Amino acid sequence: MFSYRHAFHAGNHADVIKHLVLIHSIQYLQEKDGAVMFIDTHAGAGIYSLRDGYAAISQECQGGIDRLWSSQEFDEPDFGPYREAIGQFNPKGVLDVYPGSPFIMAHLLRPQDRLRLFELHPSDTGILQTNIASLDKRSQIDIRQQDGFAFLKSLLPPPSRRGLILMDPSYELKTDYQAVEESVREALDRFATGTYLIWYPVLQRPESKQLIKRLRALSEEFQRPWLRAELRIAHSLGERRLQASGVWVINPVWTLAPFLERTLPILQRVLGEDTSATFVLETSSPA
Ligand code: SAM
Repeated sequence: MFSYRHAFHAGNHADVIKHLVLIHSIQYLQEKDGAVMFIDTHAGAGIYSLRDGYAAISQECQGGIDRLWSSQEFDEPDFGPYREAIGQFNPKGVLDVYPGSPFIMAHLLRPQDRLRLFELHPSDTGILQTNIASLDKRSQIDIRQQDGFAFLKSLLPPPSRRGLILMDPSYELKTDYQAVEESVREALDRFATGTYLIWYPVLQRPESKQLIKRLRALSEEFQRPWLRAELRIAHSLGERRLQASGVWVINPVWTLAPFLERTLPILQRVLGEDTSATFVLETSSPA
């Protein structure tokens, strides 16, 4: 337990697809004035240096945000809000730091919105608290050093009945797969109309394959629309690094599928390492 530090992975291809989906969904929900509660059940440290510390050792961002940032295709309007969110924390225009989901969400908060963060790692909780304390919008943000799986339900339903929940575990523990299912079930019981973004690694392990089936069954049991988006950058058997990941979305904003139809092929082209690069986009109600 607790060997995972997101700093090693900040800005990798998995962060790119996850944060692109996150930003698009938030901005759609904010088209209406009503307050939205944003919840990050697995927050991480908040913001990461890409050029020193853990990220510099792993260099995972080179296969993710570094590639996209220097690609002309990143100038496409669809990437504008993502570029702007990252640019906000790199005011000189040079990509030195990468905002994690708490900083991305904080950047997008309107005065009426609230952000609730769970982080269990003692070191990362401390770093997250220090990082969030530096933000102007800190009074709208609450940090809890608690198990996000277990305590998510305590925040639901949000008073405004409008909410987006990001569930982004490390899957460091095999039990995380089961915990995702249980936590989402409890959450849907209390707040079936929330938008849920659940990130997952695409691995050969049985529990990884089972998770997709279980999330599909759960979405159907609650009669909720869903969307599945995956990005694969390479496909080398036996290789230990993460080569593909996805996001399962329950109650996706209706613009998300067309948005991903446009952007996933670009991510495949820019982040793909060879011809095995591919993507999946599937929804409960095909257009
Ligand atoms: N959401 C972050 C982002 O996109 O920038 C990255 C989160 S990282 C993948 C997962 C985090 O969850 C780690 O920082 C880990 O310490 C934390 N964690 C692990 N188990 C947890 C639990 N049960 N509840 C809350 N946080 C947990």
